[in-house]
Amino acid sequence: MTDRMVFYSQMDNPEPWRAALHAALPDLGFALADSVTDTAGIRYALVWNPPQGFFARFPDLRMIVSLGAGVDALVARDDLPPGVAITRLQDPMMSRMMASYVLFATLRLARDIPAFAAAQREGRWHFIEPRPLSHTRVGIMGLGELGLFAARECARLGFTVSGWSRSPKAEPGITCHAGMDSLPAFLGECDILVCMLPKTPQTIGLLNAERLAMLPRGAGFINVARGAIVDEEALVAALRSGRIGQATLDVFSQEPLPQDHPLWHLDNVLITPHVASVALPDSAAPQIAENIRRLRTGLPARDTVDVARGY
Ligand code: NDP
Repeated sequence: MTDRMVFYSQMDNPEPWRAALHAALPDLGFALADSVTDTAGIRYALVWNPPQGFFARFPDLRMIVSLGAGVDALVARDDLPPGVAITRLQDPMMSRMMASYVLFATLRLARDIPAFAAAQREGRWHFIEPRPLSHTRVGIMGLGELGLFAARECARLGFTVSGWSRSPKAEPGITCHAGMDSLPAFLGECDILVCMLPKTPQTIGLLNAERLAMLPRGAGFINVARGAIVDEEALVAALRSGRIGQATLDVFSQEPLPQDHPLWHLDNVLITPHVASVALPDSAAPQIAENIRRLRTGLPARDTVDVARGY
């Protein structure tokens, strides 16, 4: 009997995944969770937010693949089957798409576009002396799959780039900081702070009022990670006082952002509805196929999530 993958997502269209997986691994079966009656041979699950108890339906499961790079909701579950590998997609196109958002958001701030847009609305010619990008210090929190790629792209364009991660890193052209002790120094040097951390027990609320106050006055803030990493009340206060000059926010502690949320009404905030990046079936399927080939031959899966660490 051929091994099979079960697919569950209320957000994603399964058909491009079916086609891309078939192209990458033609002998893999593919079934939609709602249509599975016989669960024998279902060894892999490709999922986004399946309902509680979902995994217990599939006793042959050997690998769970998260459809998103953010695995916070998955690792927080109490119904994960023991001994089953949890992997996340390492999709090169997802990194590129994320970097395009980060570049857009950093360039928009570094080139004073919000000030020009405001002046245009008033019919006002408002000259601001252009500055080279090297005069803008961009700090990337989280130098993982997405963060490191974005940091390199920012450095390639000419920004002065620093990064912050849990473990020490050495990356040409990027000043790397690691660990909580170095956080104040890192934050103090960010004209634009980009949050690209995973949501874990250690990062929830990390950007509180005290830490936001460590940024240079008038700094820009970009959040493409998870809303809960920043204290939104403190962020609103910092944006109102001008301590933070501009924010570009793609993620929020509650999504969709509630209609009455104060962030909607701040002139110095650009809001996008969690669109910075997605996994693309054609570029992600080969990695899933490679992991299945490894499992078939008794090798462990790659790109596994450390559930205890939370990412
Ligand atoms: P990775 O897991 O590859 O990297 C995480 C990075 O954060 C690593 O560098 C890690 O450090 C660092 N980190 C984790 N915890 C801490 C901590 N406590 N202190 C300091 N650094 C820490 O994640 P990705 O780059 O793939 O993705 C980042 C996040 O982006 C995802 O978790 C997701 O929430 C979000 N995302 C948002 C999307 C959107 O559309 N808005 C789309 C996709 C993802 P170390 O290297 O030392 O382990």
